[in-house]
Amino acid sequence: MRILISGAGVAGPTLAWWLARDGFTPTLVESAPRLRTGGYVIDFWGPGFEIANRMGMLPSIRPHGYSVREIRVVDDRGRTAASLPTQAFFKMTRGQFLSIPRGDLAACIYTALDGKVETLFGDRVVRLEQSGSGVDVGFASRPARHFDLVVGCDGPHSGIRQLVYGDESQFEKYLGFKVAAFEVRGYAPRDELVYMMHTGVGRQIARFSMRDDRTMFLFTFRDEDRSLPATLSEQKALLRDQFGRMGWETPQILDALDRTSDLYIDRVSQIHMGPAPGSWSRGRVTLLGDAAFAVSILAGQGTALSMIAAYILAGELRRAGGDYTRAFAQYQQRFGPFVLRKQRAATRLAGFFAPRSQLALFARNQAMNLMKIPWIANLAIRRDLADRIELPDY
Ligand SMILES: Cc1cc2nc3c(=O)[nH]c(=O)nc-3n(C[C@H](O)[C@H](O)[C@H](O)COP(=O)(O)OP(=O)(O)OC[C@H]3O[C@@H](n4cnc5c(N)ncnc54)[C@H](O)[C@@H]3O)c2cc1C
Repeated sequence: MRILISGAGVAGPTLAWWLARDGFTPTLVESAPRLRTGGYVIDFWGPGFEIANRMGMLPSIRPHGYSVREIRVVDDRGRTAASLPTQAFFKMTRGQFLSIPRGDLAACIYTALDGKVETLFGDRVVRLEQSGSGVDVGFASRPARHFDLVVGCDGPHSGIRQLVYGDESQFEKYLGFKVAAFEVRGYAPRDELVYMMHTGVGRQIARFSMRDDRTMFLFTFRDEDRSLPATLSEQKALLRDQFGRMGWETPQILDALDRTSDLYIDRVSQIHMGPAPGSWSRGRVTLLGDAAFAVSILAGQGTALSMIAAYILAGELRRAGGDYTRAFAQYQQRFGPFVLRKQRAATRLAGFFAPRSQLALFARNQAMNLMKIPWIANLAIRRDLADRIELPDY
């Protein structure tokens, strides 16, 4: 079976790996001219970690990872306002926890394909026509081709979803925040293995030092206006406007921002396709990863979730012997309720990133300090972060 996968981020190559292992013939199409390697660090644990294990990828992933020791909140003058050692989390996940730049993880997954999966870089699907025998696919810059199935793994602004279901606004739930990330070399201070955060009302800057003298910055801020500035200079101006009055190292960080040409900025949104069985698929086309169920950065788990979903979709296709109707239904039935719970948990965590008021900020910092007490940490982790999903063996 020839399966076209749109998007070579995290979900796409993971799905391609499992499909190729099971004797299907996947092809990836990626709109970027080469693999995208964003600089921000993501946390990676639970069943997503287990999928990487089952793919035999842990030895290649671990050297890119960081074991964060502490999450520390500092005030305007850099004094510690709250801190959270990460041992409770390590314990809870039995050491299966890693912070890793998203781009490095994506590169490890893509490398694991070992050149065996055809990848069409710098192109995208512009036309889909389904028939009894398959899907005719038109590309922006290549001749049309015929596939048996198409999977949209092209992120929250999915082109496949747009073609099959129509405008994104029907499915996007804007959570009222924006996020921006960039990376520089040679920034000091570094505070090795400490995730530093400086929070004001409605906004937060985080910094994390990485190998090779690199430092990553993450801005989160509340914004009623959902529109995004189009040009890099307008995006920088928006961040200056939002963060210009903050203390700590903010002036120095904004100067570093001025020098960067690679800035990631987006709305913090979730994608809800609706809970109805079959809502992720239309005939021979289905959606996966952020395209189907983006949980947003607030869940801190989009990457792991898309890897789990890819494993389940490939497994169900294998189990159903290629009967895609059955496989697509089973995939959503197994994974849908789990990811809905994750989306709910993510909206509860919103206040953590950008509290609404001084009082909420004070309460957030106290809550972080309370997490030093083991039973409270366990309770909070179980409620919002633990993963309750059984991974089937396919
Ligand atoms: C700042 C930030 C921090 C995050 N932190 C975390 C975290 O702590 N933990 C975590 O697990 N997750 C985190 N995430 C989320 C995580 O990166 C995504 O949820 C995850 O990568 C989902 O994988 P995906 O493959 O569905 O989408 P993506 O990784 O976004 O990949 C989609 C791919 O599709 C390509 N594409 C887009 N449109 C088209 C098109 N029309 N045709 C072809 N290709 C196309 C894109 O170029 C991209 O390569 C974070 C995200 C952000 C923005």
